[in-house]
Amino acid sequence: MINQIEIESFNQKISVQRVLGKIIGTKESPTVIAIGGIHGNERAGVNALLKVFKTIASEKIPFKGNFYGISGNINAISKNVRFQNVDLNRIWTKEQILKLHLENDLDEESSEQKEIYHILKKILETDKGPFYFLDLHTTSADTQPFITISDSLDNRRYSSNFSIPTILGIEEFLDGPLLTYINEFGHVALGFEAGQHQKEVSVDNCIAFLWLALVAAKCIKKRHVKKHRFYKHSLSMFIENQDFYKIDFKYTIKPFEDFKMVAGYKNFQEIEKNDVLAYSNGKKLISDFEGKIFMPLYQQKGDDGYFIISKISKFWLNTSRFLRKVHFHHFLKLLPGVTSHKKKPYTLIVNPKTAQFLATEIFHLFGYRKKVLKRGKLHFIKRDRKVNEFL
Ligand SMILES: [Zn+2]
Repeated sequence: MINQIEIESFNQKISVQRVLGKIIGTKESPTVIAIGGIHGNERAGVNALLKVFKTIASEKIPFKGNFYGISGNINAISKNVRFQNVDLNRIWTKEQILKLHLENDLDEESSEQKEIYHILKKILETDKGPFYFLDLHTTSADTQPFITISDSLDNRRYSSNFSIPTILGIEEFLDGPLLTYINEFGHVALGFEAGQHQKEVSVDNCIAFLWLALVAAKCIKKRHVKKHRFYKHSLSMFIENQDFYKIDFKYTIKPFEDFKMVAGYKNFQEIEKNDVLAYSNGKKLISDFEGKIFMPLYQQKGDDGYFIISKISKFWLNTSRFLRKVHFHHFLKLLPGVTSHKKKPYTLIVNPKTAQFLATEIFHLFGYRKKVLKRGKLHFIKRDRKVNEFL
């Protein structure tokens, strides 16, 4: 077990251990699991979780179901760095999980992962669903709060409870985040980005988000949260309102590349075509699109330079919801060049030529994401799925 640590975070002395808090309420379900500090320099979520657990206890707030607060990369939290060897939020793949079972000599992040994995597995095996996973983050650039989800209808429904922007399908651009792994088993999972790493308001935003999330999951009644209206208001006072966004582009920083973002970009800032966004080895990186800049990187660690996003139309959202509800996606399998995977019920194997003709957008509409190339064929994986056993 990785040891408990004492740190000073946001002018408070806090003690961080794997389980930050646990409530077993009056009913068996639902179960909410919130993770803070999976990136060690993003401590706001840890402070917020400790505070919320403390308030529930001191105010004796009636609680239905279960609530767990789990800390992420404890070793990295103690050093206030994103990670030590590898990013703990980029190693949640089947291959890596298998390694946890087989190998004894694990590096720092894998040891953290092993502990977290077994805790989550135990909760999923013994507690009752529905399960709601919340992963609390902060960013290097200044930002208003926002949510990231895999595009399943269950995720969309839950994220609609918060009056902040939601970004769909980030998992298509990232390898191995924890929440994508959780989604594979059919559970609701929301990533919450609270604000800038060091800003005190990021802690407040995490606190507000947690209370609203517990109310939305029906663990707590609205009237029992003293400052409910304030929390609701404090998350909705920003410029961007509750819209869904898609990712049009991601700039990946290559190993040994000297990457420098142009100073002063704010998250969600409008950009025009041909705007200079960053410098790579001294050369200008120019935008090929107009849109909004998203998660520009202003720290040393991490290889996601920046994203460009755009708003999704209401028409697209409604059409895709309708098509999925009537299971229209079966129609895709009838097309030439598209077959279903024999062993994986949620995977379509697509001939790249067909994909070119149909465009990725069609697969997105039907709820398929995460395009991976395997043996010359594209694999599209469906995000809506029934709950299945956690492995
Ligand atoms: Zn993070």
